[in-house]
Formats: sequence, structure tokens, C-alpha cells
Amino acid sequence: MIISVASGKGGTGKTLVATSLAVSLKNKGAVQLLDCDVEEPNDHIFLKLVIDKSEAVSIPVPHVDKAKCTYCGRCGEVCVYHAIAVMGKYVLTFPELCHGCGACSYLCPEKALTEEEREIGVVESGQADSIAFAQGRLTVGEAMAPPVIRKVKAQANIDGTVIIDAPPGTSCPVVECVKGSDFCILVTEPTPFGLNDLKLAVATMKELCISYGVVINRAGAGDSGVAEYCQHENIPVLLTIPLDMEIARLYSRGVTLAEGKPEWRDTFFVLYKNIVEIVIERNRCLKR
Ligand code: SF4
Ligand code: SF4
Repeated sequence: MIISVASGKGGTGKTLVATSLAVSLKNKGAVQLLDCDVEEPNDHIFLKLVIDKSEAVSIPVPHVDKAKCTYCGRCGEVCVYHAIAVMGKYVLTFPELCHGCGACSYLCPEKALTEEEREIGVVESGQADSIAFAQGRLTVGEAMAPPVIRKVKAQANIDGTVIIDAPPGTSCPVVECVKGSDFCILVTEPTPFGLNDLKLAVATMKELCISYGVVINRAGAGDSGVAEYCQHENIPVLLTIPLDMEIARLYSRGVTLAEGKPEWRDTFFVLYKNIVEIVIERNRCLKR
């Protein structure tokens, strides 16, 4: 089963939930934590990790053979990302904008474009006790998070439980992370900002047809808007984590909630069991 952990906005406690869920499930079957927040992976800070493998991630970008090029302009016309342009007797390439789709080299009538690999990040993997772990790191200055995310997700062992820590927001990298998930936990905080971004995240889940539920973090800090919205929209609130100085202290020291306050392990395990029930029920309905 694949459970992703996402949030409409940053700083809501997504890492806290993902790492504590993973820690609470260890020794209860195979569990894997994939940190797909590739611009800022930080789950590793909370786990006692041994990274033993590192693999570069690259995408194919076009290289022009000037001897063959007739400057017909076709490549510039087909590139929707404006990563290649033809100006007179020059073909300009902008590798940072290239998505590596291959359309330009495929459609070049003179076969003047070849593809060369360009490194954009790295995937690191290892073990934290019995938790299998992998994370992506996008090279600073690069913009193409999805290829790195895909490479992290390729490590998913779907025979066990896979927890995917997604980036915040609702843009392409988030969609790349959560698609294919059996369930998505949306972590939010009880504030007007949290509510606004939760609504965007819910709309994304609906569009992708992914089951979802909400975890409210720092409960007691804001207002009742998020709870009222969830009740009105019939969205399950799976867990409420209070605003608590001790939890904040643990987090700032890089200690998971499930380890710093072991009584929370059962709470996170109940969260997991509730998710399993929701997924089973949904699958049953889809078969009918
Ligand atoms: S499509 Fe090929 S031949 Fe035409 S300008 Fe681009 S590289 Fe040159
Ligand atoms: S590979 Fe795709 S994105 Fe890159 S320059 Fe060619 S058409 Fe544009």
C-alpha cells in the first residue's frame, strides 16, 4: 500500500507525520519511507540512517550538430518549454528549461540533434533500523523535480507499506509524488492560511481520484475553520496533534514524535489502520 503525506502549504508538520508514521510501523511488516520533497529533503534528520547507495539522476538534453543543421526552425517550433530556439544561423539551447521529452531530436528532419545526459540530482538510499529509506536531492539551481521524484518512487516496494513524503503545495512535483498512491494524508493547521491551502490540496486529490483524509497539526492554535470545513465536506479528520511546546522541542532537536513520546506510536498505528480500512472499503465499492 502506498500512503503519501502532503500539505497545501509548507510548515504544517508533514515531516512530523511521515516520520512518526514510519517509526510507528517498523517491526509491523515491511515499511519504506521515500522522501520526495526533493528540493528540501529533511526526513533523514529524524531517522538514524545509514545511506549506502547514491545514484545520479539525469535527463537527455539536445546537442546540435552544426554540420547537419539547416536552421529550418522545426526544433524551436515543437518545444513547448522554449528550451531551444533558432535565430538565423544559430540554434540556441537552454538546458535548464529542457524537460528531456525528446521531441526536438525526434522531429529534426536532418537528424542534427543528438541527446546527451545532463545531471540534475541524486537519489540516495539506505536503512534506518528496519525502515527502508530513499530520498531525492535536486541539484541547487535546477528546476526539474519530477524526474528525480520518479527515480525515488521507482524504489517503492509495494509488497509492504510505502510512505511518500511529498513537497508542499499543489504544483507538478506534488502531483508526481501522490499519483499512484492508495491514500493521501493531508496535513494542515487550523488557521485561515491552512484552510485556504487545504482546499487547494483537496481539489488536487479529487482531480487525481485519490482517497484522502486530514491530519490537523497544532490544534488549539487557531480557529475552527478547518474542522468545520472537513465536517461540511465529509472529509475524515484522522488525527489531531495539539499545539504543544514539548512536541515543538522534540521536532527542533530532530526527534520524531513517535520516539520522543512513545505513547504516540499507538496513535499513529491506529491512524494507519483507519487508512487501511478506508482503502479496503473504497476498493470494495469500486469493484461493485
Ligand atoms: S530542426 Fe534540426 S535542422 Fe532544423 S534547426 Fe533544429 S537542429 Fe537544425
Ligand atoms: S527535449 Fe523536449 S523540452 Fe528539451 S529542448 Fe527538446 S523539445 Fe524542448
